[in-house]
Amino acid sequence: MNYSCRQVSQLFSDSLDKKLKTFDYLRLRFHWMMCRACRQSSTDMRMIHTVLKPAKELILPERKRLIILKALQHAKEDTKPTV
Ligand SMILES: [Zn+2]
Repeated sequence: MNYSCRQVSQLFSDSLDKKLKTFDYLRLRFHWMMCRACRQSSTDMRMIHTVLKPAKELILPERKRLIILKALQHAKEDTKPTV
């Protein structure tokens, strides 16, 4: 079963905070081989995650961090094609 771009985005987002199951990891890699938009999106998300990580740990309360992450994800979904 192939994942949609939206599912891959969620899976990758999850992978930034926890280790994926091997099968999910392989699905992610397989989708990235086929989908340039998701490869680029994953690079952007990793950069955002890296930038926000210190803020998450030191400054932002959890509720505000989630608001920012949701806004960023919605912004990405508006510009990303689906497969
Ligand atoms: Zn995709």
